[in-house]
This record gives sequence, C-alpha cells and structure tokens, in this order.
Amino acid sequence: MAPLSFQHQPIPTLKASGNEAPLSTLPVVETFHSLQGEGLHSGRSAFFLRLAGCTVGCPWCDTKHSWPEAQHPRLAVAELARQAQQARDHGAAFVVVTGGEPLQHNLAPLCEALSGVAPLHLETSGVDPLSGHFDWITLSPKRHRPPQPELLAACHELKVVVAEPADLAFAETMVAEASRELNRPHLLLQPAWDNPHGLAQAIAYVQAHPAWRLSLQSHKWLGVR
Ligand code: SF4
Repeated sequence: MAPLSFQHQPIPTLKASGNEAPLSTLPVVETFHSLQGEGLHSGRSAFFLRLAGCTVGCPWCDTKHSWPEAQHPRLAVAELARQAQQARDHGAAFVVVTGGEPLQHNLAPLCEALSGVAPLHLETSGVDPLSGHFDWITLSPKRHRPPQPELLAACHELKVVVAEPADLAFAETMVAEASRELNRPHLLLQPAWDNPHGLAQAIAYVQAHPAWRLSLQSHKWLGVR
C-alpha cells in the first residue's frame, strides 16, 4: 500500500540564543504535529517533542539517530512552549515528550514552561529518575534495563514491546512490580516492528489474556509520521 499523504503541521524552529541557562535548554531531534500512533491515545492529534540522548541501547530501536545528544541543537524551553502553543492552536490535544530517553534530562523546567499550554504526556523506558509533572506517563520497560520503581508506581499505561516469548513473561513481571507499587496501569503489548513472530505472539497472548490490549504502531502501518 502506498503511504497516505498526511499534512502534519511544520513548526518553524528557533535555536537557543546561547545566553540561556543550561537547565532552560534541551537537545532536540525534532518537533512535529501529527497523530499519536501508539498506546491508549492512539489516533489523537498530538504535538511531539523528541529529545536527543539515550544510553539504553535497545537493539530494535527505530530512533537510533536520537542517541548522540551532542549532535542535536539545544533549544530553549520557552521556544518549545511557543511551538507547542502554536500546535495547540491548530488542534493538538496534548504534547508528547519522547526521545531518545527524555528522562536523561531534568524535565522540570520544560514542564514548567509547558504548564497550561496543553496536557503533557511522557514516553519513557523508566531507566532514569522521574522529573517534571505529567498528565499521562507511558512506561515502555526494557528487559535489559529494568525501570525505576517510581516509574512503575507513576505510569498510566505499561506498554511492552514483544519480539520473543521472554518478553511476555517480562510483561507479567512488570505488572506484578507495578502492583507492588499499588499501581494498576493500562496494559498494552506492542509487537516489534517488522517482526511476524512478535506480532503473532502478541495477538495470541492478548486473545487469551483480556487484561491486555494490542498496541500497533499505526503511524507506521499508515505511512504517516
Ligand atoms: Fe531506542 Fe527508546 Fe530503547 Fe532508547 S529507550 S534505545 S530511544 S527504544
């Protein structure tokens, strides 16, 4: 199927002036207005803020270009808030802070700058301590780098990528650990992209375990950003 034509809102970018305090700038890979493709909020209009920097090292990572923090420009959080407001004015329902691994940075100044602009969503592996305040936290834990307990306690959805059977056992371990933290997040299994075995395992598991639901990377299936 040919990719669909989808007009995301381009956001003109201003770089930090160079006079900013270090905490008020962040390394940014890209910002764009599109649809959330994954998880419980899939299909909704969202403004994405992809921060640079990740040392988690997932072999299947589809954003490896985001790993080297120094290769991306630092932007002022005030500029990011301006872009988010512009996207909000054009219909974005919420802002998604993603990466890379966004919690490699102190996100408190960003959250403060974005406060009142739109609901704030975070997508994280949970490897680093939580900073900032978010309305929705998607925890996507990794078997080779288990998450911090505070993220298991705070997440609203637990989204586990399924590439092989061991990922299903890991998913249930994460549920048990979240439960020990007195949290009952929404549970999603997401097949690893371009992995027919992972897809079949995730579908079969969700079919047999009604607490879980399938999360598809619908933006990739549809050919939108
Ligand atoms: Fe890629 Fe995310 Fe894993 Fe980092 S945590 S390597 S960005 S999938």
